[in-house]
Formats: sequence, C-alpha cells, structure tokens
Amino acid sequence: MQTTRGRRPAAPSWPGGARFAFTIFDDTDMTTLVNGPPVYDVLTDLGFRITKSVWPVAPSGPPRTGGATCADRDYLAWVQRLQASGHEIGYHNASDHPSTRESTVAALDAFRDMFGADPRIGADHSGNLEAMYWGPRRLTGARSWLFDHASALARPERPEAPGPAANPRHFQGEVPTSPYFWGDVLRDRIDYWRNFTFTDVNVLNPCPQLPYHDPARPYVNWWFAATQAPTLVPLLDLLDPARLDRLEAEGGACIAYTHLGVDTAPDGRLDPRFAPAMERLAARPGWFTTASSLLDHLRERRGVDVPLDDAARRRMERRWLGDQLRARTGSEARKAIARRRR
Ligand SMILES: [Zn+2]
Repeated sequence: MQTTRGRRPAAPSWPGGARFAFTIFDDTDMTTLVNGPPVYDVLTDLGFRITKSVWPVAPSGPPRTGGATCADRDYLAWVQRLQASGHEIGYHNASDHPSTRESTVAALDAFRDMFGADPRIGADHSGNLEAMYWGPRRLTGARSWLFDHASALARPERPEAPGPAANPRHFQGEVPTSPYFWGDVLRDRIDYWRNFTFTDVNVLNPCPQLPYHDPARPYVNWWFAATQAPTLVPLLDLLDPARLDRLEAEGGACIAYTHLGVDTAPDGRLDPRFAPAMERLAARPGWFTTASSLLDHLRERRGVDVPLDDAARRRMERRWLGDQLRARTGSEARKAIARRRR
C-alpha cells in the first residue's frame, strides 16, 4: 500500500502553502442553543470553518436522538449566523426519525429557503430508514454478507425487531419501490455523501480516491470518507500532537466526523480540554476549511475523475472492516477487564 511514511514530507499542495488540511463534519445529534454556541464561538474565533449538519424540519413523531431542528426560529437564526460567518451547512436527513420521499423533498425545499441553496454535503442519521446504501449495502459481495451476519450476532436484540428503524437490513434510500426512496433526489440536489469512517487521522491513507464515485452505488455523486471521532474524547485523541505531526508530515487531510452537541459543552459549559486543543491545532500550518471546499480542492488537484474500480473498493472495504473489528475487539477486551474488576 502506498503511504508517505518514511519518505521526506510531501511538498505542500494545499492552498496558501498549508501543509495539511483539517475540517470537521459535525453531526447535529443532540445539538441545541445551549450546547452549540459555546463550541462554535471557539471554532469561529480561532479561524476554523467547518461543516455543521442540520435537520431542516421538526420531528412529526417521537425523535430518535434529540436535538434542535431548523423549525425552531431562534436555532435557525443561529445556524444562519454560522453560515454567514463562513461555516458550511450540511444535511442530516429531514429530521430526527425516518422520513418518506415526500417529507425528504419538502425538507430539502425548506433547506433551500432557509440557506439559499441545496445542501452540497450530508450524512445519514443513524437508524433512519431512508439511509443510502446503508447497513450491509455499504459493502460489496462477501464482505457485505460477513458484515450483515456479524451485525446480527453482535446485536441479537435488534435485527428482527418490528420497529421501523430497528432492522439494519432494511435501509431503503436507494430502493425505487420503497416509500423511503430518494436516491434520484440525492443525485440531483447534493454533491457529497458519507460512507466510511476510519481511525487514521489522515483519511487519504485509507481512502486515496477521496472523494469518489462508486458505479456500484450510483445515486451518490461523490462519496466522502472521514476520520471517526464520535464524541469529545476521541476528538481530543485525534488532536494529539503526535497524530497531528504525522498528518502534517504526510501532507494529509482530516475530515473528523464528530457530534459536537453530545459532550463538548454539556449544559452550555465548555469542556476545559476543548479550546486548548483547538488552539494548538490552529497554531499549525493547516488549511482550515469546510468539508465541501476540501473535497472540491481534492477533485481539482486530481484533474481527471476516475470512478472507483473493484480493486480500490476492495482495499477500502477491507480496511474499514479491519478498523471495525479492532474497535469491537478493543471494546470487548475493555468490557472483559471491567467485568474482572467488579
Ligand atoms: Zn445523527
């Protein structure tokens, strides 16, 4: 596998002579007007411009996760101020529960009214039935089968449950006969959609084709991969100086996929570790831009667009499965240790 490790650092190829690129895709789960602004004030003041996802419309039934939607006027006004200051606004499905095609189209229309254009980028909300090529369909062939069976074994309480979003085999965004189908809408209105997240700080290592078109999953124009950092502690781990040194030495790119609303400023009080970590990052010679702008740049730098081929897809899927397995083994080991201590 090609990496730049062990070689001389690559010549800077980022705008302004920056030596690496860094951004965050902020999954909107649990974000409110209490816990959101303290985090974004820090980011904006330090010069970061990131991608904040939203739910355009209020839940019409029980919410799955919790968090504000753009139906709340004050919350919308705050998100619009973020957009005006240079942050990108992304899409996290219509709302905090599954939405049919009709609701999705209405939510995208509402998004356009609120933010002036269609979203350029988005990611599915966990468990939403309209998720695009999700569950086992994230993977191909035997890997898909393996993932499906491993998921069923890992979560025996979930797979056959009757609830609308409980069955990970039943995601339907790309299935034309489903009421949840919106693949053609995604293709017509959104450029970038997320599939894999990896542990590597430099997402160009596991996904050198970033962003890529996968002919086997054609409703998505360009898939993006990201670095997995779901909550504050993994985000702080990602910002560890040694990992950032490596990102910089490799001239790499990091798109951290995180949920800033979960525990960065619970009850509005900023975790004391967050701002210092972001200050240290801001002091480095990075290009701090939004996710779509980073992905646009990668496409421009590449010049020609080559669709993902079977070998590249296989490498990426294997790498992702490896990351999943290591994470699962790690958490199983941690649980076993905790049990022994009890
Ligand atoms: Zn979510």
